[in-house]
Amino acid sequence: MGQADRRFLMASPEKGAAETGTGANRTCPSARCEPGAALLGVKGSDGRIANLRTAMPIDAAFIDAARDAGPPEQRMRFASPCATTGCSQWTGERCGVIDRVLDHLKDATVAQRETLPACPIRGTCRWYDQSGASACYACELVVTDNSAMAAE
Ligand code: SF4
Repeated sequence: MGQADRRFLMASPEKGAAETGTGANRTCPSARCEPGAALLGVKGSDGRIANLRTAMPIDAAFIDAARDAGPPEQRMRFASPCATTGCSQWTGERCGVIDRVLDHLKDATVAQRETLPACPIRGTCRWYDQSGASACYACELVVTDNSAMAAE
């Protein structure tokens, strides 16, 4: 899967405004490492998240082991049911996280994929539902807990 060094481009969403809404049964792709979540991807040596072929449900033993090496959300991504109004990132009608990510990246120059990354949750993903392909191109650059980077 090739990558080209070029300005981060906003793709035309295959889905988007028309389907944006509270939409039941959507999946949050940037969840905490906690019971009920599934492992979605792991950060590689290139700093990008590589998705698993299948999201892997996590248990207490996994969570304990993952936390032993530091905040799991700094090196892995997790998925869980979107909590909508139960989440501080919910703006009232959509997830604010991916909107901020895309806004942050709109002037960035980063290597961008030629094709969408493989993803086991695309069918229900909240971010994809809101922003289509643009969300997927940005997704592998997102770390749920970026406090370590902020501290640098
Ligand atoms: S934004 Fe795209 S790549 Fe990321 S979790 Fe959602 S569907 Fe998968």
